[in-house]
Amino acid sequence: MRKRTLVTHPPDVKVPADNRPLVAPIYQSVKFTFDDVGATLEQFKGKRAGFYYSRVSNPTLRQLELLLAELQGRDACLLTGSGVAAIAMPLIALLKSGDHVVHFAEQYQPTRALIGRVLRRFGVASTMLSIDDLEGLERVLAATPTRLVVFESPTNPALKIADIERLTASARRHGALTLLDNTLAGLHNHGQFDVDLFAHSLTKYASGHGDVMGGAVIGRAELIDAMRSDVSILGPTLDPHAAFLLQRGMKTYFVRWDAQCRNALRVAKHLAQHPRVERVRYPGLPGDPGHDLALRQMPDFGTIVTIDVAGGEEVGSRFAERLELFAIAASLGSTESLVVPPALQKVRGFTAEQQRWADIGPGTVRLSIGLEDVDDLTADLDSALGQPELD
Ligand SMILES: *Cc1c(COP(=O)(O)O)cnc(C)c1O
Repeated sequence: MRKRTLVTHPPDVKVPADNRPLVAPIYQSVKFTFDDVGATLEQFKGKRAGFYYSRVSNPTLRQLELLLAELQGRDACLLTGSGVAAIAMPLIALLKSGDHVVHFAEQYQPTRALIGRVLRRFGVASTMLSIDDLEGLERVLAATPTRLVVFESPTNPALKIADIERLTASARRHGALTLLDNTLAGLHNHGQFDVDLFAHSLTKYASGHGDVMGGAVIGRAELIDAMRSDVSILGPTLDPHAAFLLQRGMKTYFVRWDAQCRNALRVAKHLAQHPRVERVRYPGLPGDPGHDLALRQMPDFGTIVTIDVAGGEEVGSRFAERLELFAIAASLGSTESLVVPPALQKVRGFTAEQQRWADIGPGTVRLSIGLEDVDDLTADLDSALGQPELD
């Protein structure tokens, strides 16, 4: 082999079968090859195990898929390059022109835009309700044949808890599938319910460190496998290196989740006593409207605390700027604490009634609680709330 050939065909290193790496290596390869056409064709047709092209599948992705499916209590998972792609893929794969979708005002804004704006262009109709209005849901499902109900619990940022048992029973009775964006509940919760598909932004708690994006759709194999051929054509693939980092993140998932939930509960209790805080929303607080339902549905209450500061948007902005340990930033679930002030979460295009459902007020601030020492966090919050400029 001449040098110019050698660099494109580097030496092969074989690891003996009884000599395994403790951490699975990254299969940073787009292509996989067999020695003959017959084996390649067999793999193509799904008649033998193996991989061919990483847009379709890759061993590093497969490992993460198997792990996440098991955590969520289902048998199949499909990975995407972001959380929004994990919501978009099932919608595109399952819906066709003329179908009807139900979704909720208390929803992640891009999901609302996907349903109300993008899918609408392709002839998909939708009805938006409040997640508190399950009688309304029953009425809509009884009146209008519906393919899919898309919902969240806890909702972002209002942290309302959906009654998942009632909601899924209603959907099942009327022949609608359910898609739960389970991001805020974590990767291990809600598997006991009759939910058809779960979507997760892995950017949040799987990554955990705010340095990698990804998404997952999880459900029974029959539903996920039916989606795979559409998804491989649409191409929202997760990169193997990102999958490797997410896999690494998952090793500390429960340690981070438990510590951040503990911190969040402490912060919520602390802020509930604060005279400058008008309202604290956290499903772990006994007085929270979602507390009883949350107790029945989840063993923990998440890492987001939403508060309403007296004085509205201006005060909310200054409060966020005064915080030293909380960065003003999008996203959530990182090791560091984050704050989203009222000015950055205004909802556009809602009627007065929908505004009421969404329950985002002029002083609503979302706090994502990190892994810092909780006494430092409460001291930082006190100091930012106590600044004379806030008056
Ligand atoms: C962040 C988030 C998403 C989108 O995830 P990305 O990874 O940012 O695309 C979807 N749903 C919820 C509830 C989220 O918090």
